[in-house]
Amino acid sequence: DKVAKFTNQKLNVKIIPFRGEYYKLTKEKESLVKNLIYPVPDPNFPFLGVHFTRMAKGGVEAGPNAVLAFKREGYKKSDINLSELSESLLWPGFQKVAMKYWKTGFGEMYRSFSKAAFTKALQKLLPEVTEKDLAPGGAGVRAQACDRNGGLIDDFLIVENEFAINVCNAPSPAATSSLSIGDHVSDLIMKHF
Ligand SMILES: Cc1cc2nc3c(=O)[nH]c(=O)nc-3n(C[C@H](O)[C@H](O)[C@H](O)COP(=O)(O)OP(=O)(O)OC[C@H]3O[C@@H](n4cnc5c(N)ncnc54)[C@H](O)[C@@H]3O)c2cc1C
Repeated sequence: DKVAKFTNQKLNVKIIPFRGEYYKLTKEKESLVKNLIYPVPDPNFPFLGVHFTRMAKGGVEAGPNAVLAFKREGYKKSDINLSELSESLLWPGFQKVAMKYWKTGFGEMYRSFSKAAFTKALQKLLPEVTEKDLAPGGAGVRAQACDRNGGLIDDFLIVENEFAINVCNAPSPAATSSLSIGDHVSDLIMKHF
């Protein structure tokens, strides 16, 4: 959003960082997961909810949750940048989302600090999994575009003009779709320049 603003003063979206934290299954329990295990998505949110993912290089990830990151590159709970945090909190669109979904937000925060609560969420998909089967995993930060009216944009958002083409929202499954997004952006480049 910051780079896009250089060439598009009227940009109506702000990036709100949402961290997704993972556990990983211990080696002994990896055999419980033979395929991807995903929940049915809630259409109100661009985040899917915790799931189990078999990784290409081996191992099984369990997660992620979705908590407001207090910094754009806030990969750890302790990462805080007051200026970036106040930018998120003061954005009218974020305030509307927070008012509407504060219960869900607090639930996610709680799961971030309580392994027992995280495990309970995972048990909805895989009842056999217990706290001791889970080892700490990594974290990622979603650069989630939020419009002024309180919409968490759940589709790709590509803003184009005669100066630049900016990918302003690339939520999941943007990794899966990355080659198609690349094709699309290169078509736009041919069209504009
Ligand atoms: C928790 C989480 C779960 C997700 N789940 C899914 C999923 O299940 N399926 C899916 O399809 N997508 C998923 N996504 C989304 C997907 O990961 C992203 O949309 C995708 O990775 C975006 O690709 P990108 O190339 O734009 O950015 P990135 O993949 O972030 O790549 C940017 C690269 O640029 C590098 N870089 C940054 N700054 C510099 C610099 N100054 N100099 C040099 N290099 C630099 C970074 O190190 C990085 O390697 C998920 C994302 C998160 C955070």
